[in-house]
Amino acid sequence: MDNTALSETSPIPSRQHLLDRLSVITPVLIIFAIVFTLSAIKNIYDTSTNAMSLGSSAIATLENYIDNTTSELAELNRHVSSTCSVEDTQRLRQYVFQSPKAKEVSLFDENGQVYCSSSEGKTRFDVGKAALKQINQTPTLTTIALSESRSHDKAIFIYSANEDLSGINALLPPNLFLELITPKFEQQYYDYQVNILQHSLEHKTGSENQAYRSYNFKSERYPISLTIHLTPHSYFTNFGQHIWRVILLASAIAVLYQAIRNYKLTRNSLAFSLKEAINNHELELNFQPIVDIHEPKIVGSEALIRWNNPDHGAISPTIFIPLAERIQVIEQITHQVFKLVTEFVNLNPHLVQNQYISINVSRTLIIKAKFVDYLEKYAKKNPDILPLLLLEITEDNDFSPEELEVVRNNLGHLKQLGFKIAMDDFGTGYSGLNFIHQHAFDIIKIDQVFIKSLSQNSAIDSVITSMIKLAKQLKMRVIAEGVETHEQVEHLRGLGVRYIQGFYYSKPLPAEDYLLKLTAQMDSY
Ligand code: C2E
Ligand code: CA
Ligand code: CA
Repeated sequence: MDNTALSETSPIPSRQHLLDRLSVITPVLIIFAIVFTLSAIKNIYDTSTNAMSLGSSAIATLENYIDNTTSELAELNRHVSSTCSVEDTQRLRQYVFQSPKAKEVSLFDENGQVYCSSSEGKTRFDVGKAALKQINQTPTLTTIALSESRSHDKAIFIYSANEDLSGINALLPPNLFLELITPKFEQQYYDYQVNILQHSLEHKTGSENQAYRSYNFKSERYPISLTIHLTPHSYFTNFGQHIWRVILLASAIAVLYQAIRNYKLTRNSLAFSLKEAINNHELELNFQPIVDIHEPKIVGSEALIRWNNPDHGAISPTIFIPLAERIQVIEQITHQVFKLVTEFVNLNPHLVQNQYISINVSRTLIIKAKFVDYLEKYAKKNPDILPLLLLEITEDNDFSPEELEVVRNNLGHLKQLGFKIAMDDFGTGYSGLNFIHQHAFDIIKIDQVFIKSLSQNSAIDSVITSMIKLAKQLKMRVIAEGVETHEQVEHLRGLGVRYIQGFYYSKPLPAEDYLLKLTAQMDSY
């Protein structure tokens, strides 16, 4: 059964999966928390600034209204006489009729006594002493007042007087001033009150909250002021109105953060570094000698790739070769190995004359027509090097019967071209015997796992003996890999193994060290 299929359909997410998720979600949550906190702090300042600018503009609106009304009244005053004739009363009534707000206009004498009015009968309001005083103190001889009648009705008065303090006034509904400024405060949830002299008109939002802060705005020209009270509700409302900006900003920062993080992760990832190493030709070769123990002498070597990354250090090919296969750069790497081996041979022809060099060829490549073409071209271009080369290929359980057929054809073709072929890690795959019968290998390499348990497990002896027997029948040579001790060498010699690769003779060596070994060997003959 396929394990990966099992794990993919498993409904329980793995611990690692959850941790990965958390590592993505947590910074996003932190970004949102920081942006929201900073915005909430900024909102305190913004709400106050907003209230202040609205307050000043509300005062200007009221002053404007009063200015217009006083000049209308002054104009009307010029057209009436102090006799309160029928025409005078009619003029006053016509003004009230045409005015959208004025409920009544009256003429008063220098003692503040109303003697003529647009209303039927006597007006309920006289001009108070306070208002007269106020008029007297104003250069424009205008003022406003909030008065209360004997029946406790409130009304706003706007006055325009003559030099002798007689004049005209208009009575307006008490809530007029609130109505004039309310549109400005709509949706702002501020409590505010308009103060006219010692009286005030209040507007409540209905919020139960205590005022957190209050701002006062005073008119320079009229006895009118405005107080705005900011409650917690005001701050919340202001914040709520700009919440989309906060969300947008936090999302933008989160997206930017994730983009930078992904970019860094990619940059730091092994896959990214490997691609860079290939492009910068950072990959090198080591050569591990293969020894004929009958002589004894070095008969060849295996080229083993090495990658020393400045950030990650030395990385084992057991890690980056499977990665290279996954990210499909193994072909590029193998081209570089062929190039390095070719340079090595061309630089030291006399030392490698009767030697051979084996090159590992990934299973994923051996079924590719393009790679076989590459080898065909290589063979034509380097006929002198070709006899020295041995291609090491591991068996693969994952090949389908059709793919196996392709492998068989390709290996046959490569042999015809003149390449020698070795079966690497023999005995570790299931198809071993089948595979080896079908393909004409020149060499089989017995995998290290058999050598490791040589002395502990006597059954291994018979396995190795039958491997050697089979190789003899099929006319293949045998190399034992991973030999580390003298006992292992002697044991293998007893079983009939002649060629040995392992740390006992030498670890994989940089090219110059391997050349020194070859030179020393040459000198000894
Ligand atoms: P491999 O082809 O089986 O290579 C032999 C590995 O066994 C090498 O490991 C070598 O250093 C190690 N070895 C040799 N003698 C001993 C010993 O006595 N004791 C122990 N413990 N180890 C020994 P290395 O160089 O790390 O390579 C590992 C694998 O990476 C290779 O296994 C091969 O499959 C792959 N590889 C290396 N170079 C290339 C390459 O150029 N192309 C491809 N496709 N694969 C490569
Ligand atoms: Ca190998
Ligand atoms: Ca091997």
